[in-house]
Amino acid sequence: MEYIELRSDTFTFPTKGMYQAMNQAKLGDDVFNEDPTVKELEEKLAKIFGMEAGLFCSSGTMTNQIAIATHVGKGEELICDENSHIYYYEQGGIMANANASVKLGKGEYGKLSLEQIKKLRAPADIHFCETKLLSLENTANRGGGSCYSTESLTEISQYCKDTNLPLHLDGARVFNAIIAKNQNPKQYGEWFDSISVCLSKGLGAPVGSVLLGTEAFIAKAKRIRKRFGGGWRQAGLLAACGIYALDHHIERLAEDHLRAKIIGEELLKRPWVDAIYPVETNIVIASLREDLLAKDLLEKLKENGIRAIGFGEKQIRFVTHLNFTDQDLTKFIQAIQNI
Ligand SMILES: *Cc1c(COP(=O)(O)O)cnc(C)c1O
Repeated sequence: MEYIELRSDTFTFPTKGMYQAMNQAKLGDDVFNEDPTVKELEEKLAKIFGMEAGLFCSSGTMTNQIAIATHVGKGEELICDENSHIYYYEQGGIMANANASVKLGKGEYGKLSLEQIKKLRAPADIHFCETKLLSLENTANRGGGSCYSTESLTEISQYCKDTNLPLHLDGARVFNAIIAKNQNPKQYGEWFDSISVCLSKGLGAPVGSVLLGTEAFIAKAKRIRKRFGGGWRQAGLLAACGIYALDHHIERLAEDHLRAKIIGEELLKRPWVDAIYPVETNIVIASLREDLLAKDLLEKLKENGIRAIGFGEKQIRFVTHLNFTDQDLTKFIQAIQNI
């Protein structure tokens, strides 16, 4: 059976254009700084965000964990939302990789407010950890693809600059936020000290994430990447797909957002759905009726040709992407009538 794949936007396959770009990519050994295509990708993305330098890595977990280990030292702490990927989905890496502590906030749909951040920050008192980083996630995955407003990013960033608190962005889906909120990537370069961008989510590249920051930050990060075993060789093959994705797959994210919105509206009409999170980008989180369990619904969806994933016992997540077409959307709408 061929399934309509809505488990994640990581399920996409390289396009013809990407295979062509891979074929034509100039390669070298990136550990020796000799892969021109990797350099091109790093410089291109840094320029898009108005930042100094970039570091191409194998995953968003790696770019986040390298960023944390670069910003935060042993016994120091960072602040993030309790549902953020860096805390919830990275295997305790804050502790295991950086030997650091973490202060968790309860944000609204994964978004922390400036008031919450101020309260979470440790006082300058010898009893407490020193707060060395604030990390935000935009869009927020477990918040249902929610996005920070331009006003709140401006306000939080200003506070961080005024009070010397480095600011990291887990921007796995930052281009979804940029398209949804009609923002300019250069604003992000001004707001944040470091940014992690995934090429393998909505942008549709097969592998890879890029960490952005100052020259000095990236030089330090590059040493940590090597220690993590993340130095790689002819990675230009993968970087070529990333370059292609940046050139061709950003504007089209608006289509994914539209399809997600329609999925949300159709789900709300089903008797088994109790509520959905506000749909701002390409993620739809549906909460099920009280007497139902996610695992049973996922089984029924699968029987009807649809793959999604459970978020806890009572919620299901659907994610639209490059390979989910209008035709698939029509089939999806028909299929859920049978459940
Ligand atoms: C997917 C994701 C990451 C990185 O995941 P990898 O699978 O390691 O590339 C980081 N943050 C968020 C919010 C994500 O959704």
